[in-house]
Amino acid sequence: MKVVPMKGCKECCTAPESKGDPPILPDNRGDLRAHSYETASYGIATYTEDLGSSPSVRKTLPLSPGSDLSGTAVHCASPQAREVLPPSPAAWTEEEIRSAWEWPLEKVVREARECTDRLWGRKVFLRGLIEVTNYCVQNCLYCGIRRDNGKVERYRLSEEQILEIVQEGFRKGFRTFVLQGGEDPEYSPSRLARLCEGIRRVVGEEPAITLSFGILPPKGYRDLASAGVNRYLLRFETSDPTLHTYLRNGIPLSRRLKALEDIRNAGLEVGSGFMVGLPGETEETRIRNILLAQELQLDMGGIGPFIPHPDTPLAGSPQLPLELSVRSTALLRLALPDCNIPATTAAGSLHPEGRERMLSAGANVLMPNLTPPRYKRAYQLYPGKICVDEPGFACTSCLAIRVAGIGLELSWERGDSLRVKRLRNPRGGITHAE
Ligand code: SAH
Ligand code: SF4
Repeated sequence: MKVVPMKGCKECCTAPESKGDPPILPDNRGDLRAHSYETASYGIATYTEDLGSSPSVRKTLPLSPGSDLSGTAVHCASPQAREVLPPSPAAWTEEEIRSAWEWPLEKVVREARECTDRLWGRKVFLRGLIEVTNYCVQNCLYCGIRRDNGKVERYRLSEEQILEIVQEGFRKGFRTFVLQGGEDPEYSPSRLARLCEGIRRVVGEEPAITLSFGILPPKGYRDLASAGVNRYLLRFETSDPTLHTYLRNGIPLSRRLKALEDIRNAGLEVGSGFMVGLPGETEETRIRNILLAQELQLDMGGIGPFIPHPDTPLAGSPQLPLELSVRSTALLRLALPDCNIPATTAAGSLHPEGRERMLSAGANVLMPNLTPPRYKRAYQLYPGKICVDEPGFACTSCLAIRVAGIGLELSWERGDSLRVKRLRNPRGGITHAE
């Protein structure tokens, strides 16, 4: 494969040493936007065609062995390509993770925050969350919007409503939008893809788009990637296969893991994670949750406490303390230094300082909820959800004060996963610290 620096691209393609580089993505998956190629072996090339207009046109080429990209008007769309990245500390091994599970909480939390500071600094990335639909065909035992919960007032935002929220969010500075919902047949993969094309038309290429709508067919994820989606979140929920099948009403863990593979193969950043404190979970399950997240080489690791919902079959389950989630967060950071880890709303709902505790343990993302209050009240996966009465845009000043209180600061950058940045930019300080 030969790299073809693009004439006139001021960002990365002019670098003479790019000539003859190996592919940016050694595993041949993902976003090849940083450079253009004359030929590529396989995967999907996503590129922005610069027509001198704004926003520029985004296109995707499926690549097969020997695909010829010569003559394609490819423009570097990644100003981050020349960014110097901090070297990644070695991820903790299984043995280290198992032994740290026994450490006092403060010690493991301190290690995790130090690791986060070295790699990510004191920044906390903001993501604007939009809860698109609370219709769901699934019946997960833990979830407040499961199909059989007749008490839920169901809603579905329209495309117009979503575009309006995204536009306002973009004007206010958000550079990542996370669209989430139940598995709602009305929001089919093709409708989601059209919606994301619409988002690209109004806000261009700059913001990242993350989706989380459960298990889709492999083609669904590929279509989303072609439509401009960057990331997909699908928690595996628990690493215990028997518990998974029971809690997800018959759907095996292997099905969830296959979907995560499909997401990776579609070239999307992969987000997954688990709940902490599910009934039937053991300490071994919690350790294996971390190990599975590491094995999956997640770009985003979302974890949070399980909070029993009164209108589900798990209503009578005990509420386990937040500390378990804090420990899991810290160990997840040490297992996956390059991964983005949100301080989740569930943690903030269980404890008034839950999100701060997770940030102190190595989380580096916050997700203010931009869904209009009358809808977000109806999207109760668990009871006691915080910030349901105010518009999400009002949350950022509160969050700024909260993070300042623990010596951190909010960042409006789009905050891609360091794993993906290193793949895009192999010369940007990729060396692994010995
Ligand atoms: N339907 C999609 C996305 C919405 S659910 C999906 O299932 O992937 C998003 C997440 O909410 C789930 O992955 C689960 O981890 C979390 N969740 C659901 N019920 C919960 C509860 N009772 N307590 C805490 N988290 C819960
Ligand atoms: Fe549906 Fe997701 Fe809730 Fe399961 S967790 S019932 S898939 S919204």
